[in-house]
Amino acid sequence: MPERTPYIAANWKMHKTVAEAGEFVDALLPQIAATQSDVVICPPFTALTAVVERRYGTAVKVAAQNMHEEDSGAFTGEVSAPMLAELDVEAVVLGHSERRQFFAETDEALARKVPAALAAGLEPILCVGESEEARDGGQTEEVLERQLQADLAEVSDEDIAKVVIAYEPIWAIGTGKVATAEQAQEACAFIRDVLRARGAAADDVRILYGGSVKPGNAAELLALPDVDGALVGGASLDAESFAQIVGAAAA
Ligand code: PEP
Repeated sequence: MPERTPYIAANWKMHKTVAEAGEFVDALLPQIAATQSDVVICPPFTALTAVVERRYGTAVKVAAQNMHEEDSGAFTGEVSAPMLAELDVEAVVLGHSERRQFFAETDEALARKVPAALAAGLEPILCVGESEEARDGGQTEEVLERQLQADLAEVSDEDIAKVVIAYEPIWAIGTGKVATAEQAQEACAFIRDVLRARGAAADDVRILYGGSVKPGNAAELLALPDVDGALVGGASLDAESFAQIVGAAAA
């Protein structure tokens, strides 16, 4: 079995000021000092530097929650991959369902964002996932395959192992409805199969589950053979609860 380092990411969405971000990191670091996992914090743009500065010398990595596909240009309100890399940010969340749903993020834009992130040395955390309607209609695999093929279309087979994939069923995000272990395993194994069929070293790709992960359900989800970590929203806003999820990865 390949060894994949567990990857636990905190997606803060539009939460936490600079002061609150600093307090969180100060509270978190002593609780995760012994972790062997990759621990990633995804603050809003305004708090990136505050988190970057506090985590120097620790195992914590910092990710932005979005970026534009161009390096620069007349795109008011946007930031680019080189701008994030300049801040010592290491990763970026791309294609989160909230961006797809509320900000018209398209697969065409993602097909350009993923290679742009890689070119700047950022680790893309690409989110894919089906709606409740698609799941009920038996179209989960079709949706996942379509998103993966479209969003990774311009990434070489070799570079796919540098991308982290987050399986985030939309119906489980922020709803308290968590996928069953069987649903999460099935979807993550399917994602790995799609990547393998494309010619990628799929056993090296980290695949995360996201959707109402909490301290109480993390251990079961993180023990699944094809689930290599978690993308955590609500439960990542509290340092203690996020630290417990990080601890569950080691268990
Ligand atoms: C997310 O923001 O990606 C997420 C999974 O949120 P939550 O954990 O709150 O469902």
